[in-house]
Amino acid sequence: MPVTDNRFFRVRVAAVTDVTPSFRRFTFTGADLDDYADPGYDQRIKVVFPSATATLDDMPTGDDWYDLWRAMDAAARPPFRTYTTRAVRNEVREVDVDMVAHEVTGPASAWIHSARVGDEVLLLAPVAPHEGVSSGIDFVPPAQTGAFLIAGDETAAPAIAVILEQLPADARGTVVLEVPRAGDIAYLPHHPGFDYRVAARGDERHAHLVPQTKDAAAALVPAGRGAQVEEVDIDGGLLWEVPRTAKGGAALKSAPLYAWLAGEAGAIKQLRRHLVAAHGVDRRAVAFMGYWRLGRPEV
Ligand SMILES: Cc1cc2nc3c(=O)[nH]c(=O)nc-3n(C[C@H](O)[C@H](O)[C@H](O)COP(=O)(O)OP(=O)(O)OC[C@H]3O[C@@H](n4cnc5c(N)ncnc54)[C@H](O)[C@@H]3O)c2cc1C
Repeated sequence: MPVTDNRFFRVRVAAVTDVTPSFRRFTFTGADLDDYADPGYDQRIKVVFPSATATLDDMPTGDDWYDLWRAMDAAARPPFRTYTTRAVRNEVREVDVDMVAHEVTGPASAWIHSARVGDEVLLLAPVAPHEGVSSGIDFVPPAQTGAFLIAGDETAAPAIAVILEQLPADARGTVVLEVPRAGDIAYLPHHPGFDYRVAARGDERHAHLVPQTKDAAAALVPAGRGAQVEEVDIDGGLLWEVPRTAKGGAALKSAPLYAWLAGEAGAIKQLRRHLVAAHGVDRRAVAFMGYWRLGRPEV
């Protein structure tokens, strides 16, 4: 099964839409966006931003871009961060990316607050035609899945939205989402087979996400035999566990539950320990992804 090729697309902002108080949609347009693949689900991409000391022209864009970028002086390299393709309209050469307008803490949040129509970024994304499993997709459920548990914070909401739009109507499950503000609760599209547990954050981060995900897991599958999980150092590295075969497909053919959990690494770490070690969910059917880490920049 071929893995999708990625390449850089130079795009400019065609529209900025505040979908809800915290989710700002950037509609990008570019001459070659008819070539931007839409493999679906949680397709992750990189967005490269200009900075005060580096332009988009400074970004290495060949196959060895990452090594070249790392070798550059920090001030000379344009920053990039990871986002999710929210929608692709090849026929009109447009791509939507929904970005959380959180307080300005890094290059992405700074850009999100100041970007205007006409501003440019680079998107590193898969190229059409697309066949097989894309390396950027981590939602890989077994062909036969009894129920889905999809959970995350606001950074995972765009991915969750696409997953809900693309799952068949007869899929069943629960979605748990914690968002910053009450006005964000309406962000997710409706899926007829899903129970929605979506709430705005109170004073404490993860106070909805963690207990509600544990509760939903208990309601969806009976407790099994807990397995040992090795501790992950979320301050030293990424928490990223996505079960799949060497060819990129689902690790199991069927499972009573498939869980996909993404968001702040501290919350995902707690849920990993609970679901696998305490509740006994088969780890070959759970994807755990630390999308960001409180107090640490992505790169
Ligand atoms: C696969 C994947 C897909 C993602 N998809 C999306 C997406 O579609 N939309 C989206 O909005 N985000 C998404 N994210 C999260 C996004 O990449 C991070 O939030 C990113 O760190 C923001 O960059 P920054 O430059 O603002 O902050 P950084 O420079 O990376 O970090 C600076 C500081 O900001 C804090 N910080 C980072 N993100 C947040 C946040 N959301 N809220 C509060 N504080 C924060 C960090 O803890 C750090 O202290 C995704 C991440 C991954 C790994």
